[in-house]
Parts: sequence; C-alpha cells; structure tokens
Amino acid sequence: MRPRIDVHICETGPRDGLQNLDLFLPTEAKCALISQIAAAGVLEIDAGSFVPPKVVPQFADVSAVIAHSLTHKDIVTGAVVPNAKGAERAIAAGVQAIYFVISASKTHNLANVRRTVAEQIGGFKAVRAQIDALPVERRPHLMGAISTAFGCSLEGRVAESAVCALAEAYAASGADEIGLADTVGYGTPPQIKSVVKAVRAAVGAEMTLRLHLHDTLGLGLANAVAGLEVDIRRFDSAVSGLGGCPFAPGARGNIVTEDFVFMLEQMGLSTGIDLDRLMQTREILKAHIPAHLLTGHLYDAGIPKLLRTVA
Ligand code: ZN
Repeated sequence: MRPRIDVHICETGPRDGLQNLDLFLPTEAKCALISQIAAAGVLEIDAGSFVPPKVVPQFADVSAVIAHSLTHKDIVTGAVVPNAKGAERAIAAGVQAIYFVISASKTHNLANVRRTVAEQIGGFKAVRAQIDALPVERRPHLMGAISTAFGCSLEGRVAESAVCALAEAYAASGADEIGLADTVGYGTPPQIKSVVKAVRAAVGAEMTLRLHLHDTLGLGLANAVAGLEVDIRRFDSAVSGLGGCPFAPGARGNIVTEDFVFMLEQMGLSTGIDLDRLMQTREILKAHIPAHLLTGHLYDAGIPKLLRTVA
C-alpha cells in the first residue's frame, strides 16, 4: 500500500531535461534513469515527447522509452504531445498521460510548435476526440499545458487574461487537468498566486491545476511555496535541475526534485519519494552527460548526511 501523499510530483527530467541536450542519450541510459526514478517512488513521469524525430532527434526512441517506463507499474507514464499526429503515436505506445502544449505567448507558440494558438486549440480538440474513441480503460489522462504562463523570453510579460482565455478553451475542450508552466522561469511568488487564482476563477475550483516551475531567477522553490499556499498539490520538477528552453537564452532548468522533496518533507508534506534512492539518479547523469550542468543544493551541501545525524 502506498503511503499518504500530500503533494503529487511528476518527474519531468527525462523529457524537459533531455530535449535541449546536444548529445543523444542512449536508450539504455534513459531507461536506467527512468527505472531509478520509479524505484524512488515517484508517482508520475514525463518520459519523453512525441515530436517529429527530425525536429528533436533526442526523442527518436520515445516509443521504446515509453515501453520501458510502462514496465514500472507504480508510476504513471506520460509524454508531451504537440499535435494530433503525436497523440496517435503516444496512444499507440500506451502512454497513461498526455501533456498537450500551447503557449500563452503567441510568438513562443509559433516558435515552439509552429502553429497559432487557435490552430493549437483545434489540435487539442482532435486529441480529445482520439482519446474518447478509445475504450474507457485505455484512455490516457489529458492535461492541457499552458507554456509561458508567467512570462516569455520573446514577448516579455504575458497577460493574465491570455492565460485565463487559454485555460477556458482547454476546460471547454475536455481537459482533465490544466498545467501552468513557467517555461522560462520569470515568475515570482505573488504572480504565481495571482495567476492561479485568476485561472481558478475562470475555469472553476473543481478543475485540477498543476504548476511547472523553472529556477531561472532563483525563485523556483519560493514559487512552489506560493503555489502550495493557493492549494496547488501537483507539481513538475526535474532531478538535478535538468531542463531549459531553446527559445529562452539563460533559462535555467526545472526546480530540482531532490531539493523540492526535501523542502516538502521539512514542511510535513509527504511525496512518497525515497530521497536517497532519488539521489542515486545523479550517478546515472554524471556517467552519461558529464559536461552538463547538474544543480541541486542537497548535492552541494551534503544535507542528507547532516539529517541522518540529527535524526
Ligand atoms: Zn519546462
């Protein structure tokens, strides 16, 4: 039986962390990383992206990686899908969650998925229809993710009204959950609260919301606390702070899962994650991407040792 879970963490390192990597991480290494994440008790994993391989060669092996992730029965295996074609491949691969992506910033959306926002909403509806055509037990959970919900490296400020309009379009089109992504890490704690409240007012309190945070300005965990304070209980984060955005120079990785879990535990909030096991992912990353920036205060400070003596 699973322990009590207060905060649901989706590990996004294998997707958000790898999509900008300039070297191809071998399939075996991706699978080893996923196995270690699953062994640590993480509830959900963003395991890859069903983008065309010529756009992002890193995910050319995504179906094989998903097949491996699905062998771990206790973790929900999800993937990013940019369009209906990607959804077809994702469903054929057996994903249990689909993260559809639309940017609140028009410019970022064009750069990221090469479509207008209106075209992308049409794509989302097509994905919903594909899922609804499946037998109930095979239908993946469908999240509508809003990229650049808290600012954009190309457009600067993103209006709350644009985020709310997109959230309303997702809700009206059958999203099971809405993700608010600080894609480039420009968000601040008061802004997180303000946008969450505005979106909730727009789509209703019963819609599940998730936060996806980056640490560009060093405010990642502060933003997570702001999210907790407005009752967000689902978050994306990445081991060793992997991640970045090709259209956002200087954008840092996601909030560090290890540091986030540690903080939540200190706040009395359970994640079901074994921190020691999670920290073993660092060895896999060091072995395969030694030149890549790996972050995390727990690694730098050796906090787990300190904790053991205190306990
Ligand atoms: Zn991200």
